[in-house]
Amino acid sequence: MTDAFKKLLNAAENVLITTHKSPDGDAVGSAAACARFLEAYGKKAIVLLPDPPAPNLMTFLEGISYDVFADFTTSIDTFDLMFCLDYNHPYRVGEAMESLVLDMKGAKIMIDHHPNPTEFCDLTISRPDVCSTAQLFFEVLEECDLTSYLTKEASEALYLGIMTDTGSFRFPSVTSKTHDVLNKLLTKGVKAFEIHEKVFDQNTKGRILLRAYAISNKFEQIEGTPIAYMSLSQDELTRFSFQKGDTEGLVNIPLSIAGISISVFMVENEEGKVKMSFRSKGDYFVNEFAQENFNGGGHKYAAGGFSHDNLQQTMDKLISLSAKLI
Ligand code: 5GP
Ligand code: MN
Repeated sequence: MTDAFKKLLNAAENVLITTHKSPDGDAVGSAAACARFLEAYGKKAIVLLPDPPAPNLMTFLEGISYDVFADFTTSIDTFDLMFCLDYNHPYRVGEAMESLVLDMKGAKIMIDHHPNPTEFCDLTISRPDVCSTAQLFFEVLEECDLTSYLTKEASEALYLGIMTDTGSFRFPSVTSKTHDVLNKLLTKGVKAFEIHEKVFDQNTKGRILLRAYAISNKFEQIEGTPIAYMSLSQDELTRFSFQKGDTEGLVNIPLSIAGISISVFMVENEEGKVKMSFRSKGDYFVNEFAQENFNGGGHKYAAGGFSHDNLQQTMDKLISLSAKLI
């Protein structure tokens, strides 16, 4: 891997860094760190996001070149290398941007930690046992002896990715290697509390009230099962002045209730269809269920999906299929 990585890197001048749609902390963190690393290494790099991230993640993009796909006018032929970070199927960048990824003639490097990658890159660095793409990005640089090019800002972005993809360092994916990488990031000057504050202490009143409403009014447990679900309609989102990212993490809350091992969160989109999030723990896994029944996939304990039905039909379908989850 290291020779191939260095060869592709050294041959490139203009690099395009891409992530999956609805970029989360790991996607934004890995992309921002990659851009800052490339700059320090003497390459030109632009981060291209399929759509904007939640406002609390935007600060990690300050000072780097980035664009969202809807505003992107640069020809793809300008770039001789593309990084595909935190996704492993071209469709994960969304319908609008997928052809850009597929049509790119330059080299592609995937760095990702989701299971079952599609082979569409010249170099596929896929390690599903690693907790986050951010940690994997660090591991790749470490194996290539390139971590000296990681600045404090790049290290902050990697810390963001590891922190958000591990539920603040608590999921089973966290290993001694994770803490070893975190230690090295702190040594680069990262102030851990600052990253936590930047990400988690940026709530609006609407966000907190929306979460309180969802928990107190919309929480349901499927009878006789360890499965809980919550749903929110567009009307409900509007009532609480919804902003992107406001429902992030809400799916995890039911898992903190003793006896609940699977949590499903459903939110109606503007077209009346439904974006789904699945989380589980212990002996229960959600990715295959999401893939087989709800056009999605992901990790064993954290997956996403999409339903073309309306909210009520989606909930009914979930309940009728729930035996498959347990
Ligand atoms: P979230 O619930 O945060 O949207 O997604 C949870 C996990 O599942 C993330 O790791 C995400 O990358 C993955 N995921 C979400 N939606 C999809 C999807 O449509 N397909 C696949 N393969 N993975 C998804
Ligand atoms: Mn990730």
